Amino acid sequence: MKLLYVVRDGEVRFRLPASNIEIKPDGTIWAAGIPLLGCTDPADKAAAVAAVRCRAWAELRDEWYTRLGDNPNGLWAGWDADWDAHPAKVAADAAVLAGVEARKAVERVQVEIYLSSRGWGDYSGVAWRGDITRPDTEIIAECQALLAAGTDVDTPNQSDAQLLVRISIARATWQVRQDAAKLPPRPRHGPGYCYNCETYCDGDCGDFAPVETARHAMRAMRDSLDDDFVGD
Ligand SMILES: [Zn+2]
Repeated sequence: MKLLYVVRDGEVRFRLPASNIEIKPDGTIWAAGIPLLGCTDPADKAAAVAAVRCRAWAELRDEWYTRLGDNPNGLWAGWDADWDAHPAKVAADAAVLAGVEARKAVERVQVEIYLSSRGWGDYSGVAWRGDITRPDTEIIAECQALLAAGTDVDTPNQSDAQLLVRISIARATWQVRQDAAKLPPRPRHGPGYCYNCETYCDGDCGDFAPVETARHAMRAMRDSLDDDFVGD
């Protein structure tokens, strides 16, 4: 359905179906027999509403009327295709897209590092969650603070060097996943395929793995990386 967009300050005020719209020879836009008006001043608005109510078109000032494009009353009016190409719409779309990309970028670097179990009956351990691309010193300081502040922490006294090992492992694992995500998808296998011995052994290898696990995926990924180097 073709629509007329009416926009003020880059914000869509309303959309009207083209079937209801008439554009008079003087360019003014009318919807269902009523002129499309733009008034921001409250007194003007009251006068315009009163005039429209009794269809006293002669009392309407020319600058209140709306025509296609930019109007002195501050409104912009145009058809869908014109609005799609309008700089305000293009900028708004780009801002939304940038927001989505920014959120994805934030989520992409979020990692959880398990630090310690906690006392009897409490199964939620102490873990650091955050941006794994941040400097080690900052992450270590935050991990120390979590260990010190947690109640009933089983291993509260961990050296910075011990924490650095945890952080390094977490970052390496994260990096492997990042690299894996960049690889093209590998072909899927049919029934009887075993991810353990990587043939259609149907269980003959004694360690049948019909479903791929993270361990298999990591190995396959490493193999494919090796292939890249061999083929070089
Ligand atoms: Zn097998």
